[in-house]
Amino acid sequence: MTAYDPNNIFAKILAGDIPSVTLYEDEDTLAFMDVMPQAPGHLLVIPKQGSRNLLDANPAVLAKLLPVVQKLANAAKEAFDADGVYVAQFNEAAAGQTVYHLHFHVIPRHDGLPLKPHTGGMENIDVLKANAEKIRAAL
Ligand code: 5GP
Repeated sequence: MTAYDPNNIFAKILAGDIPSVTLYEDEDTLAFMDVMPQAPGHLLVIPKQGSRNLLDANPAVLAKLLPVVQKLANAAKEAFDADGVYVAQFNEAAAGQTVYHLHFHVIPRHDGLPLKPHTGGMENIDVLKANAEKIRAAL
């Protein structure tokens, strides 16, 4: 297993070195909007403790993380009046991982509407902020 690289983009978000549209924060966890959403409301939930992905994560960190994923999944579903919620998590490049700090994708889904490609186009910041506002209101 490759070592955790503390210079990854999500570590920089956690450090406040690059901006993000934040949805939720507690002592152990941060949730924010994905800048290349696969559907409106696509968000990410990350632990503050660094691990490359699920495979090397501390189980105690995972125990605190999943309830937050659940909270955000319910909020995103309600905010977008979705039919379902897709929760995804990739481990290593072969599985589609591109950022090497553990994260869960949470994406509201509507019947019959396909997802946009993974890491496709950047969304307008005002759209991200407006979508974040809806999710925060449902938290
Ligand atoms: P992965 O392929 O590692 O599971 O997904 C990484 C996700 O992070 C992608 O969905 C991508 O759109 C998102 N992402 C990449 N860079 C940034 C960034 O600088 N800020 C935010 N908010 N999301 C990012």
